Amino acid sequence: MMEETKTTTAFGADVFGKEAINTYLSKDTAKKLQATIDEGKPLDASIAGEVAHGIRHWAMDRGATHYTHWFLPMTGSTAEKHDAFLEIKNGEPIMQFSGKNLIVGEPDASSFPSGGLRSTFEARGYTAWDPTSPAFIKRHSNGATLCIPTAFCAYTGESLDKKTPLLRSMQALDKSLRRLMTLFGRPEGHSACTLGAEQEYFLVDKEYWKKRPDLVLTGRTLFGAPSAKGQQLEDHYFGTIPDRILSFMNDVERELWKLGIPAKTRHNEVAPAQFELAPQFEELNLATDHNMLVMDALRNVAEKHGLKCLLHEKPYAGVNGSGKHNNWSVSYGGKNLLDPGKDPNDNALFLTMLCAVIEAVDKHADLLRASVAGAGNDHRLGANEAPPAVISIYVGDQLAEVLDRIEKGRADKGKQAGTMKLGSDVLPTIPKDATDRNRTSPFAFTGNKFEFRAPGSSVCCAGPMTVLNTIVAEAVDRIAGELEAAKVAGKAKPGEHTAAFHNALQKILQASLKEHKRVVFNGNGYEADWPKEAEKRGLPNAPDTPSALAALTKKENARLFEKYGVMTKRELESRHEILLEEYAKKVRIEGACARDIASEMILPAVKSEYLETLQAFATAEKVGVFSGTAALKEALVELGSGLDQLKSGIARLDEALHDGKENTTLCAMQVLRTTIDALERKVADKRWPLPKYRDMLFLY
Ligand code: ADP
Ligand code: MG
Repeated sequence: MMEETKTTTAFGADVFGKEAINTYLSKDTAKKLQATIDEGKPLDASIAGEVAHGIRHWAMDRGATHYTHWFLPMTGSTAEKHDAFLEIKNGEPIMQFSGKNLIVGEPDASSFPSGGLRSTFEARGYTAWDPTSPAFIKRHSNGATLCIPTAFCAYTGESLDKKTPLLRSMQALDKSLRRLMTLFGRPEGHSACTLGAEQEYFLVDKEYWKKRPDLVLTGRTLFGAPSAKGQQLEDHYFGTIPDRILSFMNDVERELWKLGIPAKTRHNEVAPAQFELAPQFEELNLATDHNMLVMDALRNVAEKHGLKCLLHEKPYAGVNGSGKHNNWSVSYGGKNLLDPGKDPNDNALFLTMLCAVIEAVDKHADLLRASVAGAGNDHRLGANEAPPAVISIYVGDQLAEVLDRIEKGRADKGKQAGTMKLGSDVLPTIPKDATDRNRTSPFAFTGNKFEFRAPGSSVCCAGPMTVLNTIVAEAVDRIAGELEAAKVAGKAKPGEHTAAFHNALQKILQASLKEHKRVVFNGNGYEADWPKEAEKRGLPNAPDTPSALAALTKKENARLFEKYGVMTKRELESRHEILLEEYAKKVRIEGACARDIASEMILPAVKSEYLETLQAFATAEKVGVFSGTAALKEALVELGSGLDQLKSGIARLDEALHDGKENTTLCAMQVLRTTIDALERKVADKRWPLPKYRDMLFLY
């Protein structure tokens, strides 16, 4: 078969999509199911039986013996509990999968974090099929499982997962957009959020990984002196991809294509041994599920290549960390609302959306920051080449000038003279490239979408995207409310607005920009002055997870999520509790792991180095050799004081762990790390018990 045919026929082969639906279901049922999917409605119970029957046959034809409801619990990973199709009826084995099994599942919820939403004696949780994300086949080396993407909630109906709030936030945004679109005289349409999630990751040889308990247990190196060569030469980014890595990437892409995931771009990233995979953007809910499968595929395929994929935000100190840039946009009636487009008549709508996003991000920077908080990302935000922890927006100079004119309410200050009209002459054509020179902003407008760069590489996109949808829903809703109050709508034909409409809109956007433009920052986010400037502007800067998560406890934020039907106060509180606890647990695990490595691996190595040096020194003295003894003595002093520091560092960490305070634990870990990284250069290479940065970063 030609490669072209092979790739296109394989694409989506393991997804119960259009083709499978038409092959395995009757015409009538196929039509009903397709309508359900297109409209995002729950499955019609009357066709559930036939759909289940069809899906089972399709799955069994592809080697599946089991099925599972696949969901996104609040741990941030995915969950599955497999059941065989096999049932014994009257002593006979049969294969069965009922409509009920397809629509709902009842996994025991007691072992998933619920943040107090469900106590163990009310352990029942329900999973419900989300038909907008198609069923797919997950393969392992000798079999396959049918996976049905589901939402997961408690028996009270409260959501226990990340998908439910995401779907609700999409509904909220849809509602606000419809309100706005009516005012703009747009015909009734379907709104859709889109997401393209760029995934960064590191690869390391599995043999090294096995010898690093820190990587095995925590996903990052807790110790390690910098390699002589790191990323100084800037020779890795977009460099030639080594053959071993390219064959790994190829296998990953093949897996993803089978799952209907449009993996598109692959390249070396900035740090050595760091890479990126970017898919073509898709509808947000699907793209979120797909990103979870991308992370799965990266991990699984790496094993087959003798590699380990590190999805941690900061596996190595001193070189770049990994992020997951969330490229987000929203369309209505098939048209991207963040695309300035060529038609000047679209400008008013584009500028309204742009101002809405600016307003949303400024008003709720704390929530966006909270949505990317986590023990791993704490090491990345504000560090090497990562966006700072202060949330600001980059719009580029051209748009900044346009916004400036809106704010001032006149066009004569700008390059283009003339009267201010939002619809027609305010916006110059924006060349796509001119808007994205900046790589340091946590939230950047990139031509026809926003790129939220603060999310860490391991995060589930649902969290940040739920927040973004909700806050934009609020801003759009507010602007629409003001337009309604101005009573200017209704007269405008699509694309052509009355002067009254323009004037009203101008005033609304002007007022919004006056209040919220402080969040626009087009400079270099890595500059030391920026945090100071940000403070002057009153922008929040939450440096670590606990301070970032505090946003989830604010009354006004609970009201926001409740107002837009995204989360109840209890649901929000539960997220706060879970995330805070997860943070504390991760820090404790890291602390205990650092202590164990230090006392069980490093300490003995330093002791034997010391002993050997001591013996050499003593022997030299005894036999009366004097050359070299000064150096030996100096080494002894260095190793000896290193040993002392090591001992006290371990004791200090032990104490911090005992006290159970995360910040003192992290400080003690840092002190211990400084001691150990210095000792790494004083102990013989053969004796050092951990693979070094130079090994792991360059030999994969
Ligand atoms: P970068 O320059 O940041 O590496 P690209 O411009 O190649 O990125 O695009 C990054 C991602 O943005 C891709 O996944 C792409 O599909 C996605 N993207 C493009 N247009 C949209 C859109 N309208 N909505 C969401 N994502 C989009
Ligand atoms: Mg990017």
